Amino acid sequence: MNEIAMRLEELERLGLDRSLRVVDGPQGPRVTLDGESVLLLCSNNYLGLADHPKVREAAADAALRWGVGAGASRLVSGTMTIHAQLERRLAAYTGSEACVLFGSGYLANLGTIGALAGPGDAIFSDALNHASIIDGCRASRARVVVYRHRDCAHLERCLREQGGAGRRLIVTDSVFSMDGDVAPLARIVELAHAHDARVLVDEAHAIGAIGPGGRGAVAAAGLTGEVDVLVGTLGKALGSYGAYVCASAEMVRYLINSARALIFSTAPGPPAVAGALAALQLLEDEPRTTVERLRAAAGILRDALLAEGFQVQRGEMQIVPIVVGDSERTVRLCGAALRHGVFAQAIRPPTVPLGTSRLRLTAIASHTDEQLRDAAVALARAAREIGLDPAALGSSTDGAPLASAV
Ligand code: PMP
Repeated sequence: MNEIAMRLEELERLGLDRSLRVVDGPQGPRVTLDGESVLLLCSNNYLGLADHPKVREAAADAALRWGVGAGASRLVSGTMTIHAQLERRLAAYTGSEACVLFGSGYLANLGTIGALAGPGDAIFSDALNHASIIDGCRASRARVVVYRHRDCAHLERCLREQGGAGRRLIVTDSVFSMDGDVAPLARIVELAHAHDARVLVDEAHAIGAIGPGGRGAVAAAGLTGEVDVLVGTLGKALGSYGAYVCASAEMVRYLINSARALIFSTAPGPPAVAGALAALQLLEDEPRTTVERLRAAAGILRDALLAEGFQVQRGEMQIVPIVVGDSERTVRLCGAALRHGVFAQAIRPPTVPLGTSRLRLTAIASHTDEQLRDAAVALARAAREIGLDPAALGSSTDGAPLASAV
């Protein structure tokens, strides 16, 4: 057996193999998955805008007017009027001086972290940061110091004891992707000032979901203008594809000159950019059916899960993990939930630390109250069907091992 076949067999044995499931039709509250109609409870299309008529129309118009592809990197032939338009809108929306688009959130983190830290520098990174941050830290070749999840006392100790003479960068998700908890941003900014560090905050799961008008966790914490770099994606609440960095004009100019993932990658295509612009407009014009509805939907999902006995944490975010622990059991729960008409993907290592496999549930604004309540009932039935007590399924992964995030 060759090494690839052996690796695949090992993944299967550990309950860690992955495959792609086919969705027929758009990303709505319900989808046709492998031919079956199911409630979609694991999408990051938080505001339901990926298939909103106005977003579709804007993308279609842009395709007719500007074509589908940007042709090259922004620095070669790729900057089009529509890119500049979205950058202006996002800068204004986040209260930043300037903005630059990237091909994806993954690329934005990779490029920005690599531009702000290198050999001889130090990066201080939360233990539960997203993989794109972890990969950005690794690729930068800076020294990476992982601090315990949301633990500012530990971060302070690390800042005091580690670092040396080079540049220092603190990086954190604002809303953590797999747990839905929020970083202690005010304290992080304070520590950065005290220890001469820059701060990069990844707002991927916060934009459109938290803060005034969905402006994110930095705005919610009253820190607009206080964070050196804000990273956001167009692929989640904004229903499209691509990403952005908002920062000072000087920082954006620097990134255009030094972020390799921007310089050496094709710019997002006009339909994706126009779709995100239309989504942003909807967020501003219709907060009640977007941001506020998402908040309400998240509350209904949490309450319904609590009523069924699941030990989910109270909170306000739309990401609600049901931590099972063991990977194989999580896969079985996912399969049982599907038989009850609910698609909630099993999330396993390396996406989450070993022993914390889970169903990562997400409410979206276009779910109805009834769909969310029915989903909680279906999930409880699915759990019992495979011999799991909902009351034994929790949501906290605090104290995650540091090694996995280095
Ligand atoms: N940051 C975080 C916190 C994320 O969760 C994700 C996507 N899951 C990304 C960045 C990457 O964004 P994109 O999907 O646009 O590459």
